[in-house]
Amino acid sequence: MMLESKIPDGPLEKKWSSHCFNMKLVNPSNRRKYSAIVVGTGLAGASAAASLAELGYKVISISYHESPRRAHSIAAQGGINAPKNYANDGDSVYRLFYDTLKGGDYRAREANVYRLAEVSGIIIDQCVAQGVPFARDYAGYLDMRSFGGAQVSRTFYARGQTGQQLLLGAYSALSRQIGAGTVKFFDRREMMELVVVDGMARGVICRNLRTGVMESYVADAVILATGGYGNTFYLSTMAKASNATAIWRAYKKGAFFANPCFTQIHPTCIPVSGDYQSKLTLMSESLRNDGRIWVPKKQGDSRAPSQIPEDERDYYLERLYPSFGNLVPRDVASRRAKEMCDKGFGVGKTKMAVYLDFTDAIKRNGKHWIEEKYGNLFDMYHEITAEDLYADPMRIYPAVHYTMGGLWVDYNLMSTIPGLFVIGEANFSDHGANRLGASALMQGLADGYFILPYTISDYFARTKFSSLATDHPEFTKAKKGLAERIGRFLAIKGKQPVNEIHKKLGKIMWDFVGMERNEKGLKKALKLIPEIKKEFWTDANVIGDSDNLNVELEKAGRIADFLELAELLAFDALHRKESCGGHFREECQTPEGEALRNDKKYAYTAAWEFTGDDKEPKLNKEPLTFEYVKPSERSYK
Ligand SMILES: Cc1cc2nc3c(=O)[nH]c(=O)nc-3n(C[C@H](O)[C@H](O)[C@H](O)COP(=O)(O)OP(=O)(O)OC[C@H]3O[C@@H](n4cnc5c(N)ncnc54)[C@H](O)[C@@H]3O)c2cc1C
Repeated sequence: MMLESKIPDGPLEKKWSSHCFNMKLVNPSNRRKYSAIVVGTGLAGASAAASLAELGYKVISISYHESPRRAHSIAAQGGINAPKNYANDGDSVYRLFYDTLKGGDYRAREANVYRLAEVSGIIIDQCVAQGVPFARDYAGYLDMRSFGGAQVSRTFYARGQTGQQLLLGAYSALSRQIGAGTVKFFDRREMMELVVVDGMARGVICRNLRTGVMESYVADAVILATGGYGNTFYLSTMAKASNATAIWRAYKKGAFFANPCFTQIHPTCIPVSGDYQSKLTLMSESLRNDGRIWVPKKQGDSRAPSQIPEDERDYYLERLYPSFGNLVPRDVASRRAKEMCDKGFGVGKTKMAVYLDFTDAIKRNGKHWIEEKYGNLFDMYHEITAEDLYADPMRIYPAVHYTMGGLWVDYNLMSTIPGLFVIGEANFSDHGANRLGASALMQGLADGYFILPYTISDYFARTKFSSLATDHPEFTKAKKGLAERIGRFLAIKGKQPVNEIHKKLGKIMWDFVGMERNEKGLKKALKLIPEIKKEFWTDANVIGDSDNLNVELEKAGRIADFLELAELLAFDALHRKESCGGHFREECQTPEGEALRNDKKYAYTAAWEFTGDDKEPKLNKEPLTFEYVKPSERSYK
């Protein structure tokens, strides 16, 4: 299939505005004739549902949570980027565009990244208008801080709770529409199938998680805003419930999956402490504004940090990257932390950690200053480790955090299935091989508030829709298929709790498809994953039944999909014989240990097409062309 990215012609800075003008509009009084299903109520989904309803479209909003506010976006801590340049430190739309493209190691579309930078400013205005309590400076202006991969301060924040505050804003907008009757919200519904009629996405099948009843929803378009798939690795910083089912089911119905191997490992997480852990906790990147990362210069040094004198510490990021120091992008900081630990410089009980130290910042600005900026993060760390960060440095280690890959979408955010739009972390669109900090919230809200509402209107205006009801044979077929699948889970009646199988998968993924990948390890993973899949289908113990609340059954469905996605992820990682951003192939590195891209062979988006169960997926390539920024070796020195 030909991949049409639909990037508009014209100069970079005019592409979006001229596209907006050229797209068709739907007359206000006709809008109520069109309907959309939005799956997900995180920042992307809530903003999209509210905006579409405000325009006058009929919207069905679906979430497996009991409230839109429970979406994983609520966990976002550090901030959201926009090049407002209030700090007068040289920021601009072009600089944000440049930083993002370079940060993603030149594996994203220029036009998308420029548009993202362009609309990011109005996101801040929109959120301020909603009452989002961004931090302000003494004069009352919005305050900003710095995030990795940038030398300016462009990150707007609300202490360490930016996602929560932004989601409350989007939720208020959504609630207004629910109250007005323009959005019908269905809680505790898990989308488990996409329904495609005459080649167009026209509905979804959900399982009502309270009653087990399978319900059909029909509309003119379907929007997936269902978040990332980092939990394929079992341990991650993502919400426990985050899963890949919605996008995986869509993949199996014909939506291409782009760059599945582009996974982000975040450098500042609380290290793993034992085998029974089911979740990892992020310590926001914002901490790297004031915290200094170091390890002892002596291998195996087990002295307490306070006993290690200044000249026996290695502030390795400051040493290796003097220009960006502790604020190098996440992929770089993560790899260096792993390298330090692998070489025996790690700290703490497990020796799989490095220090993030605030002593200098406390000395410089006082405890109160730190408390105001990072208080809730310090409290969180204290609750988990019982350690006092005002006295001792934090211990951190990289963990799976975000997925840059996702369903392939064109410039209009539409997948390869007409009428299926994908927004937020669920798509692959803007971050290339490595997302810069504070850019996910920016992308989710850009997609939901400012991009999708235009592009979907154009789709509605240009498309003829047949009238459709949920008794259409495609709905019946999808429901029947789902019922059979659920029946298969319950019939396994094996011995292993599904969680244990997920844990095994996670270990394989971390060991062989994690921060460093090589051909041998990836081939091993591709041998082991099908074995675990077989274990699942023969020995999983899915207790209970299907006609009421059954958390084990929910998990089983999600894990079955993770198992399939894991294979695609490893397959993609094996095929991409280059290092770029979060995808680090040991075989491809510079003498200094930096990622070595191969632009001649791999300057493309890998869009995988489902060809059948247990069949090799088909690779479709979208070539990446760079007219404005010349790809070069990323340097943060
Ligand atoms: C700890 C943490 C901190 C972070 N901090 C930052 C930060 O400071 N700045 C930044 O830019 N980014 C940050 N990120 C990343 C950012 O939070 C996410 O990328 C972003 O919030 C994703 O938003 P989303 O709307 O795409 O998806 P989500 O917020 O994940 O929402 C997904 C929604 O889809 C629903 N859903 C999913 N599948 C189904 C299904 N099958 N059926 C029904 N409903 C379904 C869920 O119920 C949920 O409502 C952070 C991430 C983590 C893990």
